[in-house]
Amino acid sequence: MIPYGKQDINAEDIEAVLNVLQSEFLTQGPQIPHFENSIKKAVKAQYAIAVNSATSALHIACLALGVGKGDVVWTTPISFVASANCALYCGASIDFVDIDADTYNLSVFHLQKKLQHARLNHLSLPKVVIPVHLCGQSCAMQEIYQLSQEYDFSIIEDASHSIGGRYLDRSIGGCQYSDISIFSFHPVKIVTTAEGGVATTNNASLAQKMTLLRSHGITRDPLLMSTTKEGDCYYEQVCLGFNYRMTEMQAALGVSQMRRLASFVTLRNKLAKRYDHALQDLPVQLPQQMQGTYSSRHLYIIRLQLDKIQITQKEVFSLLREKGIGVNLHYIPIHLQPYYQRLGFLSGQFPHAESYYKNALSLPLYHGMTKAQQDVVIVTLKEVLLS
Ligand SMILES: *Cc1c(COP(=O)(O)O)cnc(C)c1O
Repeated sequence: MIPYGKQDINAEDIEAVLNVLQSEFLTQGPQIPHFENSIKKAVKAQYAIAVNSATSALHIACLALGVGKGDVVWTTPISFVASANCALYCGASIDFVDIDADTYNLSVFHLQKKLQHARLNHLSLPKVVIPVHLCGQSCAMQEIYQLSQEYDFSIIEDASHSIGGRYLDRSIGGCQYSDISIFSFHPVKIVTTAEGGVATTNNASLAQKMTLLRSHGITRDPLLMSTTKEGDCYYEQVCLGFNYRMTEMQAALGVSQMRRLASFVTLRNKLAKRYDHALQDLPVQLPQQMQGTYSSRHLYIIRLQLDKIQITQKEVFSLLREKGIGVNLHYIPIHLQPYYQRLGFLSGQFPHAESYYKNALSLPLYHGMTKAQQDVVIVTLKEVLLS
């Protein structure tokens, strides 16, 4: 099976992890700040807080921004469920903004409409909006940021797909138009630490809060304590935190992987261009790239033009899988998940997201993919669509 995504592990990655295993620290050692520094440098953010997953990063990012009971968080329905679940972890409620028909990202047009409607009708305005850079292509952050000033909400960029991507000539994660950005290092993503995530910010107070929340709310910093430090063994728990720490093995793998970030993203873009060229005459809509964006190309999503073919999306899916092509679907709209339906969301509520779901298909794309493997995907897709 040609998978839809796959990690790229080389001899240096393996050596980096083995070295840690033979060192003094398996957790809470020098590799974590080392990894955080490599992230800060790559995305040009002042602070980076490494954690055990992007899901944890989303959770502590919401908490640091004060999300709690009575608050509302808005995100896109076309994302992994974690982008919405983080609000619920904090006791807040979640709502969605429909997607843009060209980029499949959270639509600025629908965001503005929903904000206006909420203000006019005295409904809750969001405390935080979480745009997700689907496939690695940035959302229209400048416009979303302008709305945040007008309607007074904070922004967390779910940049899980997009390390190495750029927006208006700056690296995604630099938080120029947001309070916090989060990245995922799950093996299917651009760079991996097996499991892992990071939150970046330029705000010292948010960084401090997230650092506390990552590790039980415990500090050894006298400046954060309520009483004077009673000797070197003294520590204080100053808030209710979690154990969301990343291990030293993971951080060392991350440092080693980050050295290849530029080559990962360049190669993914080359493969995407090859798909663009090879699939242009097929009855499919190819991924569109907006001006001012440079995608990390985490995913290559096509949309089947079902009115032009004799076969359904489900049939295309199973035929390709039978033929060894590991296609996937990113994503089933979150509000259609049974759990979210029980919270009261209805089908039909976000029509662009729902029509996207009816014809979207993710083709295999990963760093180690050979041209020969990509050609197999292309030929097989043609066969299935045109027969
Ligand atoms: C993968 C992913 C997450 C969750 O990442 P984990 O590191 O697995 O917790 C969150 N949001 C999006 C958009 C993702 O793709």
